[in-house]
Amino acid sequence: MNVSDVLIYMAIIGNGDDIYVTYSLSDGAPPTRTVLTYSGQYHIAIWSSRLSVWVVVSMWSAECNRYGHCGPYGYCDKTVVPIPTCKCLDGFEPANKEEWTSGKFLAGCRRKELLHGCTSNYLAMLGMKSPDKFALVGGGRSTSEECLAECNRNCSCVGYVHRNVSSGSFGGAATMCLLWAGDLIDTGKLREPGGETLYLRLAGKRRKSNAVRIMLPVLISSFFAVICISLAWLKCKGKNKNCRRHKNIRLDGMSTSEELGRDEAPHDQDFPFVRLEEIFLVTHNFSEACNIGQGGFGKVYKGLLGGQEVAIKRLSRDSQQGTKEFRNEVILIAKLQHRNLVRLLGCCDEGGEKLLIYEYLPNKSLDATLFDDSRKLLLDWEKRFSIIKGVARGLLYLHEDSRFTIIHRDLKAGNVLLDAYMKPKIADFGMARIIGDNQQNENTQRVVGT
Ligand code: ATP
Repeated sequence: MNVSDVLIYMAIIGNGDDIYVTYSLSDGAPPTRTVLTYSGQYHIAIWSSRLSVWVVVSMWSAECNRYGHCGPYGYCDKTVVPIPTCKCLDGFEPANKEEWTSGKFLAGCRRKELLHGCTSNYLAMLGMKSPDKFALVGGGRSTSEECLAECNRNCSCVGYVHRNVSSGSFGGAATMCLLWAGDLIDTGKLREPGGETLYLRLAGKRRKSNAVRIMLPVLISSFFAVICISLAWLKCKGKNKNCRRHKNIRLDGMSTSEELGRDEAPHDQDFPFVRLEEIFLVTHNFSEACNIGQGGFGKVYKGLLGGQEVAIKRLSRDSQQGTKEFRNEVILIAKLQHRNLVRLLGCCDEGGEKLLIYEYLPNKSLDATLFDDSRKLLLDWEKRFSIIKGVARGLLYLHEDSRFTIIHRDLKAGNVLLDAYMKPKIADFGMARIIGDNQQNENTQRVVGT
C-alpha cells in the first residue's frame, strides 16, 4: 500500500475533564506514529518499507500554538489561514514594534492607554481561547453579572471570562468565573466554533473611586450635620447643662475600660452611635443572606448605612469576654486613623446587642486569598510585597506614631483585611493593649491571641 493510500480517521474527544485526540487507520495501513516535537510541532508519520524511512504525512505548524509564543497580551489568531499569526489583544499594541514586525513576539504587547485606577470599561473579544493562569471564583454557579462585579471589585483584575460548562465533573450545566490579575498569556482566537468571550478591562470610563463614592455622601451629610450642630449649639447655649448631660449619657458606656483608665476614655469624642432598629433594617434582621463571615466573637454582616457599604460585627450576646473586647475595640480604634488600619465607623450598644460598624473591605481577609488555590494567583510578588509594607506601616503607626503605644497581640493573616485595591488594613483590636508613654515593659497575666 502506498503512503498516499492510507486513510487516517481522527477524532477529538472531550468529556468535560479531559480532552484527547484519537485516530485509527484504514485496513492494511503500514505502521504509523505521531510525534510531538520539542518545538511543539505535531507530526503524523507513516513507515515506508520501500524507502525504510518515516514519511511525515501531516504536520501542524504549531509556532503560534506554542505556549506564550505571542507574549503577554498577544494572542495567536488561528482564523488567519493558512498560517496562524500573532496579534495584539484589542486596545493593545506591540511592546517592541521592530521585533514584532520581524516575527519576534516574545516581548508581547502593551496597553495603548494606561489603566488609571479602577475602570469599569470592558471590551469583549469573541471566540477566544482563554489565557493561562486564571483565578477561579464563585464556585460552579456564577452569573455573568457576578463575574463582572467580582472583576470590578478587584482593581488588579485585567479581564474575565464567564465560562459555561455543560457536562463533566460539575454534574450537568455549570458556570465558572475566571479572573486574571497578572499578564494575559497564551491567549488565542479559535478558527472553529466554541471559543469563549474574553472581557478585557481597558482605560476609559472610570469607575467612581471608593473614596469619591464614600466621601461624597459623607461630605454632604457632614455639611448638613455642621449646620444642624451649629443651630443646636445656638439653641443650647442658654441651657448648657442639658447639652452636656446628653453627651455624657451617650459616652458613659465606653468610659470604664480597664485598659485605658478614666481619663483616656473618649469623653469628648464625637463618635457615631447607630440605632439598633437601623441595623436591623440594613441587615434584614441579621439575615443569613447578609452574613459575610464568622469570627471568634460573633458573626459579621454586610449592610448599606447612609449610602456606604459597611461590615457590622455582632458580638455574641452571652460572651462576657465579648463585652470587654467591644469596649477595647471601640475605645482604641475610634481614636486611631491610618490608611492601614480598618476604620471603625460607629457602634451600637442597645437592647443587649453589641455591634461594631466598620468600613466594608470587599476583598475580605488576607488568609482567604493567601490560602485559596485559585485566589492566591491574584497575589503576585509585587502585590504581596506591597501588602507586607502596608501591614508594617500600620504596625509602626500603632507601636510608635499614634497617640498611644498599642500592641495588637493578635496579628495574623485572618486579621488583615484587603480593600478593593488589595491594600491591607489591620483589623480586630479586641486583644490589643495600650502601653503608657514612658513605659518600656509590660506584664501580661494571660496568654491571648492565636
Ligand atoms: P477571630 O475573631 O477568631 O480572630 P476573625 O478575625 O476571622 O476571627 P472577624 O474579625 O469577626 O473574625 O471576621 C470574620 C470574617 O468576616 C472575616 O474573616 C472577614 O471575611 C469578614 N469581615 C470582617 N470584617 C470585615 C470588613 N470590615 N469588611 C469585609 N469583611 C469583613
